[in-house]
Amino acid sequence: MTERIPGFATLAVHAGAQPDPTTGARATPIYQTTSYVFESVDHAASLFGLQTFGNIYTRIGNPTNAVLEERVAALEGGTAGLAVASGHAAQVLVFHCLLQPGDEFVASKKLYGGSINQFNHAFKNFGWKVVWADPDDISSFERAISPKTKAIFSESIANPGGVITDMEAVARIARRAGVPYIVDNTLATPYLCKPIDHGADIVVHSLTKFLGGHGNSIGGLIVDAGTFNWSRERRYPMLCEPRPEYHGIVLHETFGNFAFAIACRVLALRDIGSALSPFNAFLILTGIETLPLRMRKSCDNTQAVAEWVAAHPQVAWVSYPGLPGDRYHGLAKKYCPNGAGAVFTFGLNGGYDAGVRLVSNVKLFSHLANIGDTRSLIIHPASTTHRQLSDAQKTQAGAGPDVVRLSIGIEDQEDIIADLEQALAAPE
Ligand SMILES: *Cc1c(COP(=O)(O)O)cnc(C)c1O
Repeated sequence: MTERIPGFATLAVHAGAQPDPTTGARATPIYQTTSYVFESVDHAASLFGLQTFGNIYTRIGNPTNAVLEERVAALEGGTAGLAVASGHAAQVLVFHCLLQPGDEFVASKKLYGGSINQFNHAFKNFGWKVVWADPDDISSFERAISPKTKAIFSESIANPGGVITDMEAVARIARRAGVPYIVDNTLATPYLCKPIDHGADIVVHSLTKFLGGHGNSIGGLIVDAGTFNWSRERRYPMLCEPRPEYHGIVLHETFGNFAFAIACRVLALRDIGSALSPFNAFLILTGIETLPLRMRKSCDNTQAVAEWVAAHPQVAWVSYPGLPGDRYHGLAKKYCPNGAGAVFTFGLNGGYDAGVRLVSNVKLFSHLANIGDTRSLIIHPASTTHRQLSDAQKTQAGAGPDVVRLSIGIEDQEDIIADLEQALAAPE
């Protein structure tokens, strides 16, 4: 008999976890320990030499975090995962394994604002150069490639405007260039989109958002698709050259299709140190158990709220790929058939002042700088996250004076709409 492949909701509850072998505990315990006792001197030596898998020190690995790693890798359809302290840490570790000073990577210019800052400023200090491409003009990715290019990066659904990247087209460009394609799948989550099915070689996440889903923990995760042939490309010394720190082993020869996840752990996380607390891993694992239920409810709510907002007389435009007239509606149907996500933006006829008035008058919505919570969230970027920019820069970043961003939670749809209705009707 062939073994049944479990469905997504089953994996979300079970992947990577089993009852604790010593206590029988059914929920994954929080292994709140820094270090692990060696069985013998030989055991210690083989752990340090990467000949045996096992725990040494929680900066490099932890049993609670290991369940989280296996679960997200299973949901994404990858070979292995690595949990880290934040989404931004995941990005630093991935690029640390791919780039050397003087190298370049091509990135979609429609990204989470924090990633744009990280790539433009922090990465510059490391000698890594970002070359921006436009997801609305896929050939711009091809034009941005040079002999120094080592990777291509995009999001699946990009915040704030709900930009959906044609991942299969970008993946073809990456294949031709012989570089891995990295996709940030934070906004979609694997429930809505599986980038590996569309050609991604590496997936990164901010677990802080929908995967954890309850607005209580920062975390990040890297998934290795196992698809990239590091030995053939030979331009990635961390993967395909003997490592002096591990007795000259070549990671891709030793670890095959999960070598990238190993490199991120034993060469990047070990030395850079952005480890995830096992307590956060526990909270995020608990969140992931209900990911399919939460995403379903949030997407249904978002569709209804976006339609209601689009019909409101004070609203000039709505940008949500779930709406039939939206520029990305076709790509949404292809890449996110289960829903177009739970974040969208709209513009108020009354401009800046109307945006400030709306965020000041909501009661159910929380006015804050996050997305992906059980709670509905609202922000007026021009007066908060983007306030230091000029009006032209704000508009260029999709954060013009009139723009409001919503992240829709799992409350009752009628209550969410009623809150927007009363806040829009509030006197000036
Ligand atoms: C929040 C976010 C990040 C950064 O994640 P942190 O956990 O805040 O470090 C990266 N990409 C996207 C799309 C995000 O929304």
